[in-house]
Amino acid sequence: MPEPKPNPKPSLRVLIAAPRGFCAGVDRAIQIVELALERFGAPVYVRHEIVHNRFVVERLKGMGAIFVDELDEVPDDRPVVFSAHGVPKAVPAEAQGRGLTYVDATCPLVSKVHRQAERLIEEGRHILFIGHAGHPEVIGTMGQLPAGAVVLVETAQDAKKFQPKDAGNLAYVTQTTLSIDDTAEIVAILRERFPAIVAPHKEDICYATTNRQEAVKRVAPQVDAMIVVGAPNSSNSQRLCEVAVRSGCANTALVQRAADIDWRVFEGIESLGLAAGASAPEVLVEEIIDAFAARYTVSVENISGPAEDVFFPLPRELRNDAAE
Ligand code: SF4
Repeated sequence: MPEPKPNPKPSLRVLIAAPRGFCAGVDRAIQIVELALERFGAPVYVRHEIVHNRFVVERLKGMGAIFVDELDEVPDDRPVVFSAHGVPKAVPAEAQGRGLTYVDATCPLVSKVHRQAERLIEEGRHILFIGHAGHPEVIGTMGQLPAGAVVLVETAQDAKKFQPKDAGNLAYVTQTTLSIDDTAEIVAILRERFPAIVAPHKEDICYATTNRQEAVKRVAPQVDAMIVVGAPNSSNSQRLCEVAVRSGCANTALVQRAADIDWRVFEGIESLGLAAGASAPEVLVEEIIDAFAARYTVSVENISGPAEDVFFPLPRELRNDAAE
């Protein structure tokens, strides 16, 4: 009797969304911690996860970074880095008061929103901040402004209910990592209710968030299932999942590592879309492709969008070209 032939692996088309993964702000923040370790030696303290990705955080821990929630956990004689999401003004003020060495890894596009909000307050405007309560970026931006000068708007419902003291003196700014479509809906409600509301000169939702959501919109309608590589506390990754579902792929999962994949969800699929949030390293995308390749005969297609060439310079204190 001839040996029975083993079942061939089923075929799977994998469509990879681009751009994906690290943005310029995340890249810079990680580099800042690495350079701070080189410059000051270990340990270097980091207030909050430098970016929302466990893999990145664990790698930096292995190099000598210590992650803490608040400054009072940082000894007086060690440097501290502030995360890419930005910090309330009180944090650098406290660091200065204690004479700590600190490096601010806040993404320049978040800092831009901070300065914009401050200018609007100087003009005497009341600010509506469109964002998600509790996210570090929201805490950081609201912490630039005097208490009571800003109101958080999370949903279209909030925008409908808001009752201003002076409807002629309003402005809005937004978190950088929101859903483009949800934000457009909220802004449309605000503009209709308060036609004089002042908008940002340039869109606050950043280029990386915009490009990654557009990339997901291109892939999601073409596939049976979709994986967004990213962390549950990553705002931009969460938004990518929502965009995928709305764009026609109901079977979408947020996955941190290949080991987290619930394979029952992907049984019988013939095509898979893959995208990655702005804080997810490419190595994790590759790990997930490898995990599928162990179960399927995989063919990979790149679904490309606009190329990204954004680059943010490092803080002066960590640059080799800075004068001593
Ligand atoms: S997602 Fe946008 S705002 Fe956030 S770190 Fe990246 S570039 Fe900066």
